[in-house]
Amino acid sequence: MYSYESSKVLFERAQQSIPGGVNSPVRAFKSVGGTPVFIKKAKGAYLYDADDNQYIDYIASWGPMILGHAYEPVVKAICDRAQFSTSFGAPTELEIEMAELIKSMAPNIDLIRMVNSGTEACMSALRLARGYTGKNKFIKFEGCYHGHADPFLVKAGSGVATFNIQTVPGVTATTAKDTLTCAYNNLDAVKKLVSENTNEIAAIIVEPVPGNMGCILPQEGFLEGLRTICDEENIVLIFDEVMTGFRLALGGAQEKLGVNADLVTYGKVIGAGMPVGAFGGKKKLWQHIAPLGNVYQGGTLSGNPIAMIAGYTLLKEMKENPSLLKELDDKTQYLKIGLEKVLKAWGQPYIINHLGSMISVHFSNKPVTDFASAAASDIEKFKKFFHAMLKRGVYLPPSAYESWFLNNALSYEDLDKTIKAVGESLEKI
Ligand SMILES: *Cc1c(COP(=O)(O)O)cnc(C)c1O
Repeated sequence: MYSYESSKVLFERAQQSIPGGVNSPVRAFKSVGGTPVFIKKAKGAYLYDADDNQYIDYIASWGPMILGHAYEPVVKAICDRAQFSTSFGAPTELEIEMAELIKSMAPNIDLIRMVNSGTEACMSALRLARGYTGKNKFIKFEGCYHGHADPFLVKAGSGVATFNIQTVPGVTATTAKDTLTCAYNNLDAVKKLVSENTNEIAAIIVEPVPGNMGCILPQEGFLEGLRTICDEENIVLIFDEVMTGFRLALGGAQEKLGVNADLVTYGKVIGAGMPVGAFGGKKKLWQHIAPLGNVYQGGTLSGNPIAMIAGYTLLKEMKENPSLLKELDDKTQYLKIGLEKVLKAWGQPYIINHLGSMISVHFSNKPVTDFASAAASDIEKFKKFFHAMLKRGVYLPPSAYESWFLNNALSYEDLDKTIKAVGESLEKI
């Protein structure tokens, strides 16, 4: 029997000095109820909490730990590099190596700049698109999450959807009015927005495969259609690959789906668990960024050597062993087949969305293709399911609006245990 006594004590204590007891809202379990478990350590596919409970991890720190926790080459590289100081505030050769490595993996990246989070990457990419086009408005899709910068906190997915926050206090109406939104997968709605705002739209930003309203797949022609509209209207197409980058393929969603963006943002996997983001893309845009141009963007710790060596080591492992991503995709496929079996036996409606190593289960009786259909799924069932899984030693994202993230340290035995736990948990909801 799992006991959460130490986590309860820590959560009480945390709330005395940290707002809500957490440094990022979804961690608080508020939407699923109960006490968040405090993690002590992790290795491979397993998390260990303050009460020494072991969990099979399906969050992977929300994506970065794609080859498992405390991956030895990454740990060693960090320890070795730390001896030469943790920051200089001056350029290093390592930053060039990192940029060259990413260019060699992802299509369509002439130049790339490192930042410290996915939020920063998206915020900076939008600024560059605005500076380049001289236009202010941009289109984002309902339920897509692009970090917590003001312009993106309009109909955002992830935590904003999890907590059912309609408008975010603190984001001014002046800012929000430049954010145009429409449903994901609805190309006609995009065309309408574009025609209603002729020569005013700087960018369209999109998660090519959204993972922040559960996993959603782009319908055939949707991303290609965005590409065409952007070409015709002088709009910058930004792919937010913070989640999909280096996960769906070594070249991210651009490679997997065969559609090119003008700017691409990265985060999560690119830092191997260190605070890293990046934005990259076509040369013609980059002529406008400081110090080349006047679009200012900077960062005291950007390109930090410890963060760079961690991400570099992970990406290099993945690049040199393409079988790793293949193994991960195969495991996810195996999990999907197992899930289907137990869900079918359960006999109630469900939808599984899946691509590569992103997968989500929606308790719904109709296809989940956008935010409205994701929100129409049975959230109460998810809450019970989440806790039933946790009790059985499986740690899922504590929100119905998040993709599960697999990591390659998962064994087939772990997957079998997970499928069995799903079967049992479904009986409890
Ligand atoms: C996580 C995420 C972000 C934000 O990244 P942070 O590092 O949390 O700031 C942006 N876009 C997408 C698609 C994400 O999944």
